[in-house]
Amino acid sequence: MTTRLLPAILYDVLDNLKNDYKQRSSIEELLLSLNSIFGPVLTERALELIDDESVFLIQSQERYIFQVVGSRGDIYTIMEVSNFCTCDFFKHQVLKDRALCCKHFLAAKVAFILGNFKTKSETPGSVTSILLCAYGNQEIK
Ligand SMILES: [Zn+2]
Repeated sequence: MTTRLLPAILYDVLDNLKNDYKQRSSIEELLLSLNSIFGPVLTERALELIDDESVFLIQSQERYIFQVVGSRGDIYTIMEVSNFCTCDFFKHQVLKDRALCCKHFLAAKVAFILGNFKTKSETPGSVTSILLCAYGNQEIK
């Protein structure tokens, strides 16, 4: 598998991990897979965020998103359907193809697989406001 192919199939890879975990409930296998795909450093940082209870699922009747509280208290919004984050790591590493994703994105996805997150219910309008706030003012440089 080339490094260029992996970003394109990132969602398939995560889906497979989710299905494997659902069928076998083996945390050891999940961790081994995460380590081999994302590397031990990114995996460990994502798991730390989950352990710190920093992952929140924000849901309305229409959709759900994740919010991850970063190590310095900043809040990052992760959408279900795209690999994107507003953190500096994403801007400087992921967008330049030096990493597959950031720890916030991985934490949200792994927390979802494990069912280890806190849930907040919001109105559809509030979820839209969160997304506009997170992504509406991004500068493209
Ligand atoms: Zn991030």
